[in-house]
Amino acid sequence: MAEDLPTDEYEVVVVGGGPAGQTAALYSTRLGHQTALVDRGGGRAAMTQEVHNLIGVREETSGNEFLGVGKDQLEEYGCDLHRDMLSSCHRTEDGAIELCGNSANYQAEYVVLATGFNDVRPDPPLPRTGRGLHIVCTATRICSSTSRCT
Ligand SMILES: Cc1cc2nc3c(=O)[nH]c(=O)nc-3n(C[C@H](O)[C@H](O)[C@H](O)COP(=O)(O)OP(=O)(O)OC[C@H]3O[C@@H](n4cnc5c(N)ncnc54)[C@H](O)[C@@H]3O)c2cc1C
Repeated sequence: MAEDLPTDEYEVVVVGGGPAGQTAALYSTRLGHQTALVDRGGGRAAMTQEVHNLIGVREETSGNEFLGVGKDQLEEYGCDLHRDMLSSCHRTEDGAIELCGNSANYQAEYVVLATGFNDVRPDPPLPRTGRGLHIVCTATRICSSTSRCT
C-alpha cells in the first residue's frame, strides 16, 4: 500500500465499471450504502460497437454510450466514480478491506469484484471490429474480435 496516497473510506467498493459492476453499485447506492465504483476503463462492454439483445437499449447504441448512461445514473444517485486501476487488497486489523490503486487507496467494509475477463487475442492480431467471434475447440475456447457474436 502506498503510504503517500490518500485513503477514501466507503461502506462498499465495487471494482469494475462494466454492466455487472454498474448494476451492483446502483443497487448498493440506492439501498443507502456509501458506495464507490472503481474502474480502470476499457473492458468488454466498452469494446462493443453496437449493443444487441439488451432490453430497453436501442440497437445503434455503442458500448461506451450505454456505459455513459449508467455512469450518469450512478452519479445522480450519489455513487462516487473513480478512474483507477486496483492492484492489491488486504484486511486491516479492525476487519476492513483496503484496496490499493494508482491514484488512491480505498477502504471498505464490503468489496464487490466485477472485473469481467480478458479475451485471448489471435496471433497475428486482427483489426478491432467491435464484434466478437467465439471459436470452440475440444479443450480451449478462443474469443477474438473478428465478427459478430453468435
Ligand atoms: C466485441 C464484443 C461485443 C459484444 N456485444 C454484446 C452485445 O451486443 N450484447 C450483449 O448483451 N453483450 C455483448 N457483449 C458481451 C458483453 O460486453 C459482456 O457480457 C459484458 O461487458 C460483461 O460485463 P462485465 O461487467 O462482467 O465485464 P466488463 O464489461 O469487461 O467490465 C469489467 C470492467 O472491470 C474493469 N477492471 C478489471 N480489472 C480491474 C482492476 N484491477 N481495477 C479496476 N478496474 C478493473 C475493466 O477495465 C472493465 O471496465 C460483447 C462483448 C464483446 C467483446
